Amino acid sequence: MSVKAYFRNIFENVASISDGMTITLKYFFQKTATIQYPEQRLKLAPRYRGFHEFEADRCIACDLCAKACPVDCIYIEKTAPRKIDKATGKATGGELTRYAIDYSKCLFCALCTEPCPTRCIHMGKVHDLSCYSRRDAVIEFTELDKEGLHTPIPIWMERNAPRIPWVKEELERVKAGKLSGTAADIPAR
Ligand code: SF4
Ligand code: SF4
Repeated sequence: MSVKAYFRNIFENVASISDGMTITLKYFFQKTATIQYPEQRLKLAPRYRGFHEFEADRCIACDLCAKACPVDCIYIEKTAPRKIDKATGKATGGELTRYAIDYSKCLFCALCTEPCPTRCIHMGKVHDLSCYSRRDAVIEFTELDKEGLHTPIPIWMERNAPRIPWVKEELERVKAGKLSGTAADIPAR
């Protein structure tokens, strides 16, 4: 190797390291895009669409949400027609035997919220639900309703609630059957 080639190699190596270090330092001083979740709470956009919140006692099983769903992932069964009792604001008539959503298909598009005449299906804020099988991805909201829940409780939430205050607060909200808000729903026209 000539002396010229030797020094050119050194120069190219130093230039390459310098380029790499410049990029590293640039990102080192930038604001981080990730957080230590779930210790730190994720800031969701006001119109964020998470897993649904469903108020079974106001559902008249009219099927309009299922018809609006572009992927046919809402399953509704009833024993007889239902209607809203104006005095109580609750649905009466037949029994709502099944209201389920298959989250292996759901697009979180919120189109099901638009036609609902009683405004009882909402896009919620719970966003990190996981399961081990496709069958478990089907959430049976009528079964949750029997436990006083409007939305499913993720396993991680129950596990982390004792040690993380905001998770405890969120778990208590879900367990109390409180809605997270309806900002992510598509408003009725
Ligand atoms: S969010 Fe969209 S895809 Fe999911 S159930 Fe509603 S209409 Fe269907
Ligand atoms: S549109 Fe509303 S009332 Fe009708 S079945 Fe769906 S959730 Fe129930």
